Amino acid sequence: MQATYRTDYHVHTARCGHAGGAGRDYVLAALSRGLSEIAFTDHIPLYFLPGEDPDPSIAMTRAELPGYVEEVRALQEEFAGRIDVLLGLEADYAEGHEAALEEILRAHDWDVVLGSVHWVKGGWIDAPGSAQRHDVEGSGTLWREYYRLLAKAASSGLFDVITHFDLPKKFGHRMPLEAADAEAAAIAAARAAGVAIEVSSAGLRKTVGEEYPSPPLLERLVGAGVPIVFSSDAHAPAEVGWGRAEILTAARVAGAREQLSFRKRKRTPHPL
Ligand SMILES: [Zn+2]
Ligand SMILES: [Zn+2]
Repeated sequence: MQATYRTDYHVHTARCGHAGGAGRDYVLAALSRGLSEIAFTDHIPLYFLPGEDPDPSIAMTRAELPGYVEEVRALQEEFAGRIDVLLGLEADYAEGHEAALEEILRAHDWDVVLGSVHWVKGGWIDAPGSAQRHDVEGSGTLWREYYRLLAKAASSGLFDVITHFDLPKKFGHRMPLEAADAEAAAIAAARAAGVAIEVSSAGLRKTVGEEYPSPPLLERLVGAGVPIVFSSDAHAPAEVGWGRAEILTAARVAGAREQLSFRKRKRTPHPL
């Protein structure tokens, strides 16, 4: 059974340097797949690293941010009445840089802000080449630190949705038992903060071959009362809405009864 409210709450465009396709092509793809709405969530400028453009292959620059907002606004107008286009942002959580993040978030009228932990112990946890960090630094250490940061992100009040909850598994490194208490603390933090999580098909396209979060983890999150949105984390128009049937089924199997939509950072529940 299809849910009547069909969304994709996490897509990127060429602006972030590692995705392909113009914004308009993403909206056309969403329309052709029968989505009710699509949220653009390009990567936030790397506000926590030194320099104006610390890593062009990861994110847009600060100078590009207003152009991004303008483009999404123009698409909103162009497609009004056919599909809802949302202004979102995938914002990195970086410990100790909360004030700088707040300042960027205050500058625009976002519909939804995703909170992500990609930067762990001075490096990316998910970039090409990050897999070997598990061998060099110890998988348990990375997982524990990742979940410590994720819990802080959830508690920060800066985000509407926490993304890819078990991201360090991307290259196939399953969470070792020693990180189980850190994971439990991150779930508790999400529940206490009332923040939502995404059920993302992106992991199905990675080495791990499994949605984020894993089925048992999703069951625990849903069981704790943490609300969900659906996302593809598309980095190309062809990936918009990708794996929707799988993640919808995963959410229902985990016991979810509703999904959220966001406008101006205010949530509305919809039955699944
Ligand atoms: Zn990306
Ligand atoms: Zn991400």
